[in-house]
Amino acid sequence: MNPSTPVEDLLLLPGNWNFDYTYFAGATASRFFAELRDNQRILGRRCPGCERLVVPARSYCDACYVATRDEWEPVGTEGTIDAFGFISTKFPGLPDPPLVIAFVTLDGADSAILNFVEGIDLSDESAAGEYLFTHDRVRVVFSEQREGRITDFHFESVPNS
Ligand SMILES: [Zn+2]
Repeated sequence: MNPSTPVEDLLLLPGNWNFDYTYFAGATASRFFAELRDNQRILGRRCPGCERLVVPARSYCDACYVATRDEWEPVGTEGTIDAFGFISTKFPGLPDPPLVIAFVTLDGADSAILNFVEGIDLSDESAAGEYLFTHDRVRVVFSEQREGRITDFHFESVPNS
């Protein structure tokens, strides 16, 4: 953009992406999702370089770029919100908005996992944000019907003790 272009001359161009696809999960993610579905467990793998427990389990450490050990460790079913955001637009494949999505570091893990936080009153986003800043502990709630997907669980807020 030419820095001298007046803002009112900038265009908004409509677009649309709509396609189905199949994702090849690979061996590590396949086991991770199967454990969610079959055993209601969230597992990580430890990096031999930095010794972090990487969750969700990955084949490679994203900090060291080395293969994680083929040893699987469950993490706790509570954790702390590292970051959160609100989704107010309908996206194909996602539940109806408004939604809260958060990166949560589960107890025992050294990296965060992304999922929805349910049960938050979103009638006032500002108040909801303030609530989440002051109530950053959440617990994992598994679905009754699980399919081997990240949506097999969600987070719910844990009252401050
Ligand atoms: Zn590492």
